[in-house]
Amino acid sequence: MILVLFGPPGSGKGTQSEMLLQSGNFVHISTGDLLRAEVASGSEIGLKVKEIMSQGGFPSDDLIMTLVQGQLDTHKGKQIIFDGFPRTLNQVLAFDALLGVQRENVSIVINLQVDLDQLVDRVSGRFSCKGCGAVYHDRNKRPLQDGVCDRCQGTEFIRRADDQPEVLKNRVRTYLDQTQAVCDFYRQKDLVVDLDASKDPVSVNNDLKISLAQAGFKI
Ligand code: AMP
Repeated sequence: MILVLFGPPGSGKGTQSEMLLQSGNFVHISTGDLLRAEVASGSEIGLKVKEIMSQGGFPSDDLIMTLVQGQLDTHKGKQIIFDGFPRTLNQVLAFDALLGVQRENVSIVINLQVDLDQLVDRVSGRFSCKGCGAVYHDRNKRPLQDGVCDRCQGTEFIRRADDQPEVLKNRVRTYLDQTQAVCDFYRQKDLVVDLDASKDPVSVNNDLKISLAQAGFKI
């Protein structure tokens, strides 16, 4: 079964995915994470997309689909959370075709809704552990011990270049320009559930689990 988690940067897709993963019943696929891994590895793909991503633009749909196809093959038949994908109408259509071959389909699309001021506030304080990727926030979620990762005890932290306020605004603009069409596509198929993601993460997670259970997911 497939869950598409939808929402602008900073709406809590990563946090909600992490909470769902704790049950061990889900696999998480974030195209942003896959792209960042390519950049970090210095691969040919990584070198190509580094510049585009640092400005909040989108790498080509073909490239994204290649990454997604590899992941779908690896995790066939599992309950998959797609985070940050599909983001363009071309990706939706290519995804539908890919899933058709595997006799799968999108079971539900969760649309996390937050207003722009709150997004800027959330994203501008975000940082993560260099070793394991655990995400923290200057004001809302500091590590229990300052400078030490709760999850892996690492002591090096990084801030995403594309979380700078100006780049973030560009990412949100790109999101609104291109991604809205994706949401509308799934809405016409009656697959979209809108959730108020301005609430605290635990409340959002409770709402999310109710919707997923209704759609037939094992939570
Ligand atoms: P995210 O971690 O989902 O916020 O993605 C970070 C950046 O990666 C985006 O601003 C885009 O540059 C790129 N990206 C991630 N997923 C996609 C996608 N499905 N299509 C195009 N670009 C993507």
